[in-house]
Amino acid sequence: MTTARTLRSVAELVEAGLMPPEAQHAGAAKVGERYAIALTPAVAALIEPDDPHDPIARQFLPDPAELLVRAEERADPIGDLAHSPVAGIVHRYPDRVLLKAVHVCPVYCRFCFRREMVGPSGLGTLAPDELDAAIAYVAARPEIWEVILTGGDPLVLSARRLRDLMERLAEIDHVKVVRFHTRVPVVEPDRIDAELVDALKASGKTTYVALHANHPRELTAQARAACARLVDAGIAMISQTVLLKGVNDDAGVLAELMRAFVENRIRPYYLHHPDLAPGTGHFRLGLAEGRALVEQLRGRISGLCQPTYILDIPGGHGKVPVLSDAVRESDDGCFRIRDFRGGEHSYPPRHD
Ligand code: SF4
Repeated sequence: MTTARTLRSVAELVEAGLMPPEAQHAGAAKVGERYAIALTPAVAALIEPDDPHDPIARQFLPDPAELLVRAEERADPIGDLAHSPVAGIVHRYPDRVLLKAVHVCPVYCRFCFRREMVGPSGLGTLAPDELDAAIAYVAARPEIWEVILTGGDPLVLSARRLRDLMERLAEIDHVKVVRFHTRVPVVEPDRIDAELVDALKASGKTTYVALHANHPRELTAQARAACARLVDAGIAMISQTVLLKGVNDDAGVLAELMRAFVENRIRPYYLHHPDLAPGTGHFRLGLAEGRALVEQLRGRISGLCQPTYILDIPGGHGKVPVLSDAVRESDDGCFRIRDFRGGEHSYPPRHD
């Protein structure tokens, strides 16, 4: 289906033929009152409305299942707030920080781990004095080697603002790497033009772009061309994918996606176990299921195509590779997880 503008409500989705008229009076409408909705024209065009199991629709169309909040779910599943010394900064590991300049995205994913923070009623964009304070925080700490721009999607910022941000980071000698986490090359590929690509580069810094994509159909010809513009300009690309029930919980789909990344010079990086965000239980597999699935990739696809299956330990204790002895199943069905500092945590079994 084609649309010229971003669709931002259930009514607009119905009008575009992506949801049935009844949706306006059902749970989906309530979801729309609670969480942001946005589908760009590129995403809307990918949806096959007649397919009730369409993996693109499942990622972006509001679902009444989002109203069901499970006991183990939490508003801040990976503990950003506990590690935020100043607005916009998350400092969880010694040598790197997240810089969340903006809490707006071109699309809103139904499984978003920051769904309570992003969107029109979320945390918004950093005010100029807050951005000054965030950059001053980085500048004052020589141990910070990498700044990770995330949010929200930092590539919604204009080329002018991105260039300004890069120039300010370029003045900090100890920052060597700047990484952007984004869905833009897939969901709004035309936005990756020469001006924006140039704005992401700064003298003396290495720029990485981490592309978030979850299904091989997202890598359209336009998306591939957008990624090529970044890579041809000397920007390294890595991938991040969320393992999602009903979207990519299939070894064949994951293999095709990882190969597509590599074919497009994007190094597979993280396959995230879905976080305990409110109302996202219908997307979550159990850790044992996820492990069995990811093990099927070994031998099936080239070593170049193997992502690291990763869990963000709830509460802000950092990431842990799921296929490691730091993640152990216990007799009660829970998992015992050891964080990078040696702390032990419990992770719940999946509840239907
Ligand atoms: S693009 Fe990222 S931050 Fe934005 S809604 Fe999707 S998962 Fe959340």
